[in-house]
Amino acid sequence: MRKFSKLTIMTAAMILAIIAAGVTAGARAEAPESVGGIVPVPGARTTGFIEVADTGDGAARIPVSIIMGVEKGPTLALVGGTHGYEYAPVMGLQIVARKIDPAKLSGTVIIVHVANMPSFLGRTIYYSPADGANLNRVYPGKADGTLSQRIANAITTQVIEQADYLVDMHSGDGNEDLRPYIYMPVTGNSEMDAKIKGMALAFGLDHIVIDKRDNLPADASLYTDMTGLTRGIPSMTTEAGRVGSTEPDLVRKNVDGVMNLLRHLKMLPGEERPPQPTVWLGEFSVVASPADGMFIASVRGGHTVAEGGVLGQLVDFFGEPIATIRAPFAGMVNYVIATPPMRKGEPVAMVSKIVADE
Ligand SMILES: [Zn+2]
Repeated sequence: MRKFSKLTIMTAAMILAIIAAGVTAGARAEAPESVGGIVPVPGARTTGFIEVADTGDGAARIPVSIIMGVEKGPTLALVGGTHGYEYAPVMGLQIVARKIDPAKLSGTVIIVHVANMPSFLGRTIYYSPADGANLNRVYPGKADGTLSQRIANAITTQVIEQADYLVDMHSGDGNEDLRPYIYMPVTGNSEMDAKIKGMALAFGLDHIVIDKRDNLPADASLYTDMTGLTRGIPSMTTEAGRVGSTEPDLVRKNVDGVMNLLRHLKMLPGEERPPQPTVWLGEFSVVASPADGMFIASVRGGHTVAEGGVLGQLVDFFGEPIATIRAPFAGMVNYVIATPPMRKGEPVAMVSKIVADE
């Protein structure tokens, strides 16, 4: 998930300034010559690693598949494992890599199977064991930074900046009971926003958060998807999976979403599945914990709550109550922390207002 997000409003002028600084969104129709040294082959799937060298705090290998069609077309980048305990998209992307027939593909698909290998192998939620950083807060990264910053730099320069479309695929982290949804960025650029909306509806998780964004500069884009947006690339973040699960239904949501997105982008033949009826979510709030302790949730991801409705109870390490955590407004619980450890300031739950349409 994109935790610690807070609702912010930016003016259309601010957003247009960002977009103007980027490039016009659109298919470049030329495949990358190389992705971190991995050379695409027309009509084939190629695999390899983007190597992130050890400059003092460890190395990382980023496993990448590149599926290159015979016909020209756009380049779609799919990033899994930005958070290392979010397994449903990671498992889904392994299936996607085999399911796409290069002979039928127009354009190129770059799949980052596990963006954050230190976190994945270290089995950590949110933060890298190498430097304590959240990979989805250090973009576009730094070539001479900490390991997470160097990973972000490699993905920015090798993957994102070579793509025409970008999807950062998340799920409920190892501690998050999450109901699947999409963050649909709204930038204020109508051409860009129409493309992103088309992508979101095609992915089809049937709950979409209208995500009005901070005015972030390209050199401090923080998020994977914002790194794409600030470079003129239609981008979004999907959330499908919960508490680190690999349940087949959750994996399948990721696979089906990507395959339908490929048809929507005309990269694969076949009818695009018609958009499903979608629940639109507007203003959202990430409720933070007031103290260290243990959290016991009263709701689950997908539940609706009243304003002031109980989300759960925070207790101390002896079980004595510290606080009852309540919803800031009526809405739907996107996710709630489903395991006991709770640190002051970390998310307890995300609640979104349900709106009639976008
Ligand atoms: Zn995540």
